[in-house]
Amino acid sequence: MARQKIVAGNWKMNKNMEEGLSLASEVIHMAVDELPSSQGVSLVLNPPFLHLSAVRKLIPAGKGIYLGAQNCHHKPSGAFTGEVSAEMLKSLPVDFTIIGHSERREYFGETNALVAEKLNLLLEKGIRPIFCCGEALPIREADTHLAYVAQQSTESLFHLTAEQLKQVVIAYEPIWAIGTGKTATSAQAQEMHAHLRAHLAGKYGVEVASEISILYGGSCNPANAQELFACADVDGGLIGGASLKSRDFIEIAKSFPNK
Ligand code: PEP
Repeated sequence: MARQKIVAGNWKMNKNMEEGLSLASEVIHMAVDELPSSQGVSLVLNPPFLHLSAVRKLIPAGKGIYLGAQNCHHKPSGAFTGEVSAEMLKSLPVDFTIIGHSERREYFGETNALVAEKLNLLLEKGIRPIFCCGEALPIREADTHLAYVAQQSTESLFHLTAEQLKQVVIAYEPIWAIGTGKTATSAQAQEMHAHLRAHLAGKYGVEVASEISILYGGSCNPANAQELFACADVDGGLIGGASLKSRDFIEIAKSFPNK
């Protein structure tokens, strides 16, 4: 079975409402005009929480364009001022939600166990998690990156059933490549993606592992996407900076080879 090809844009804390709506509507128009559904690429727009409801209204049905949030709280509801729950996201509805992004891990102290709690709530609500993992530079320099990322996935994902895991999208994002302009080489990306897939296969079997989309994230742009997406185990990208420019985002989405 062919894996789902996905290009997801993580807008982070950028764009006011007017700018966000104009970016979303440009991306949607270009996608409808230029990305034939025969290419089977799914786009996910992940604007800030505030914009979700308005962007939802712009997304046409049946065009392979989906709405995602950038985070959710790890408790179902309650006295957590300023937070947003999986249930609230479902009520919009959103289709996907990014969890475990390295910026959340670094600035908000999110651990693998906390990410697992978020994942459970999202799956309960029928929202597909985009689970981020990836190593910092010292870990890569110490040559322990493969074990480190496998451990992240073990601690956040391995309590799931196979059916639940199939709803999860994994995004491998080496921290040293995020927002730095320094991209992993296609060999580095492929090595990690294949390693992650083999790690999943060890627990869930080859068939299940072969169905999981694993995205690459970290300074992906129209100039390097083609080489990255040509790798056997790279199923698309989680795009930060380049998702803020509609033309760049769409060019990245057009970068899949026929494989
Ligand atoms: C990200 O933060 O998810 C990301 C991939 O950012 P960038 O593309 O800007 O490196």
